[in-house]
Amino acid sequence: MNKVFVRFSALSENESFARTLIAGFLLPLNPSLDELSDIKTAVSEAVTNSVVHAYPNTTGDVELSCWYDKNEVHIIVKDYGVGISNIKLALEPFYSTKKNEERSGMGFTVMGSFMDELKVDSNINQGVMVHMVKKLAEIKE
Ligand code: ATP
Ligand code: MG
Repeated sequence: MNKVFVRFSALSENESFARTLIAGFLLPLNPSLDELSDIKTAVSEAVTNSVVHAYPNTTGDVELSCWYDKNEVHIIVKDYGVGISNIKLALEPFYSTKKNEERSGMGFTVMGSFMDELKVDSNINQGVMVHMVKKLAEIKE
């Protein structure tokens, strides 16, 4: 088992930091380029959601945790913002509360299709927790 935990400001410049951090952390697992690209995209979507939606009139933090055991990679992206009132609806393809601001409403759909498991937990005004799992093809003992 190996793990990492970081907390950073919910700013758009940290989206690429999160992608790079995950890629670097998972390097010892020898992920394929496809696997790595899927994971980076999913992390990016989750972090972007915290940056874009969580703190509308204020600032806050995003917490990114990642751990792996053998070939199973777990990622949690968490914020302490406004939360999601209807998670089932938010997970629907093309559903967005910011459709007029170039958002397509496909973030959760992308996370769900690029990862093997996606769980979203939220309470109003207590933030959002996104837990994703990906099983890599190659097993490192
Ligand atoms: P896209 O990801 O395609 O740019 P989007 O972010 O609106 O558009 P999703 O990522 O699927 O689409 O998220 C759907 C909706 O869920 C968002 O429009 C927003 O209302 C809500 N949401 C998602 N993440 C959060 C969050 N961290 N805090 C508050 N609301 C969120
Ligand atoms: Mg999104």
